[in-house]
Amino acid sequence: MGGWTRHGCTLERHVHVQGRRVLSRISVDALYSRFDSLHRPSIVSDHSLRHHCRHYSTTHDNPGRVKEKGKEKGEGEEAVGKGKERAKRRGKQKESNQVWNNAEIPQSESQRRTVYALSTPLGKAGVAVVRISGPDALQAWSGMTRPATRRADPTSDRQREPTPWRMERRDIVHPTTKDKLDDGLVVFFKAPSSFTTEDVLELHIHSGRAVISSVLSALAHIPGCRPAEPGEFTRRAFEGGRLDLTQVEGLKDLINAETELQRRMALQNAGGAAKQEFDELRSDILECLVLLEAIVDFSEEFHEGDEEKLFQDSMSNSSSIIRVLTIDHLNNPRGEILRSGIRLAIFGPPNVGKSSLLNYLAKREASIVTDVPGTTRDVVELSLDLGGLPVIVADTAGLRKADDLVENIGIGRAQDTVKGSNISLCVLSLPDALVQTPEGPRIQIPPSVAPLITPSTYFLLNKMDMVKSPPDMSGGEEVGALGNRAWAVSLRTGDGMGTFLEGFTEVLRERYDFSQDQDGSTVPLITHARHRHHLQTAIDHLHAFTSFRDKYVDIAAEEVRQAAKAIGKVTGAIDNEDVLDQLFRDFCIGK
Ligand code: GDP
Repeated sequence: MGGWTRHGCTLERHVHVQGRRVLSRISVDALYSRFDSLHRPSIVSDHSLRHHCRHYSTTHDNPGRVKEKGKEKGEGEEAVGKGKERAKRRGKQKESNQVWNNAEIPQSESQRRTVYALSTPLGKAGVAVVRISGPDALQAWSGMTRPATRRADPTSDRQREPTPWRMERRDIVHPTTKDKLDDGLVVFFKAPSSFTTEDVLELHIHSGRAVISSVLSALAHIPGCRPAEPGEFTRRAFEGGRLDLTQVEGLKDLINAETELQRRMALQNAGGAAKQEFDELRSDILECLVLLEAIVDFSEEFHEGDEEKLFQDSMSNSSSIIRVLTIDHLNNPRGEILRSGIRLAIFGPPNVGKSSLLNYLAKREASIVTDVPGTTRDVVELSLDLGGLPVIVADTAGLRKADDLVENIGIGRAQDTVKGSNISLCVLSLPDALVQTPEGPRIQIPPSVAPLITPSTYFLLNKMDMVKSPPDMSGGEEVGALGNRAWAVSLRTGDGMGTFLEGFTEVLRERYDFSQDQDGSTVPLITHARHRHHLQTAIDHLHAFTSFRDKYVDIAAEEVRQAAKAIGKVTGAIDNEDVLDQLFRDFCIGK
């Protein structure tokens, strides 16, 4: 450490990282005013922590993605725009000749740096979009499009460049034979203002198999062009610095979203909400690191006790960051649950109407319904949309003491399914469960289901039509020792089902709909196990730091640096090829 110089009220140093010059700067006034503020409770809330930390600035001459490999200097000082460099390199590929023949087509894949693919599903439809991205996109324009034949003098603008971001009616032609393949609309997105940050040409053609295949095979005749790999357009957007990893994941989730809530959550992350949150958290951690580095570098300039105060301040900031990470993110699994679907288990004794409930929810005969007890032996699962929430419902074998081996295996699976669910519905037969006591009618929970009742269990008391004067349970009354909510219904007549569905959907919303939060909080949710893993690692390092004493400042700083690195892995600021390969492989071709 060292090499700081004072410029007025700023301390600066330059470091060289991977051949790039990076400026690290800290304001002395801000640093010293921090000592004054130490005499009052400086961090009163997580929000004020964020605000407070931003008094310190570390500036970078080129912020961007940082590769973990070969990284030597402090996290707080380094930020190399590798993505932008990569994009620039691709963009700088030398202009190829506009006139070519097959012999000039580059043979190796690595020479073909422009990629193309059908970006819409293959099939009969009005329009298909073929996307071409890379330095030779303009060659596809000049080689494969010409003014629409209906216009006067179709050859007049053969060499004219397209007007970027404006759709034009053009004929699509074969690049060598000039045979007309289709007529369509063409739009050119000029780098870097395109999805991939490269030159992008989109051909909007008729969606028919023969049209699409003739256009795709014609594109192979353009030098420098090759078919895209799955997710390659998005990967280029990532490498060009247009998207971070959470946005890439958000985009993938948006494409896969099946319900309204999934769509909203994915759109939030694709729009950069998670990126902003984790960038801020990382920058807060880096500010803690700057304070620790200041202790190492400026200790001669400090007054007695300053060092200790600065170290304690960095520690208390770290503790607040741990709280944010834990409360807002790790202890909030709703994002992951919403993305993969809420697991709802239907369970109860045999013959109470569990399969009837599944069929009612599915609006079809998904499960066999008979009056023979023990019909459902394995778990029957299906995905539903309940009020915009994705729910994976599982119908399970009836729970009872059984001698049959197969039925017992089914019962074991049923118990595992209930234990592994996020929420469960225990179905009971109202005529069997309703008992008269001196205090009035009461619901008795059978011993076969009692051990599976948790605060996440809700009761459906079925076969209300078989009870002469059923208790009024239309408001989701409380049942059992835990006071679980219950609804009385008849799946046969449909009585009470409307109220139950309304009430139960409301329960799901209260538990999982992030947009219903009372405090109006807009904290983005973690949506992937990958996020959870890196955030937990960051917390572990920060915990390790907060247990250090001031005499180990160097080692303590290393823990904070590792915590920042872990957060950087969530967004891809610190990237990891294995994750990237896995992530982009899951995309479809053309995205
Ligand atoms: P499961 O074994 O718990 O899955 O129960 P089923 O859905 O297979 O239903 C068992 C029997 O109860 C079938 O004969 C159904 O027709 C009947 N059943 C289901 N719901 C009702 C109801 O609300 N009222 C009456 N009376 N019978 C019902």
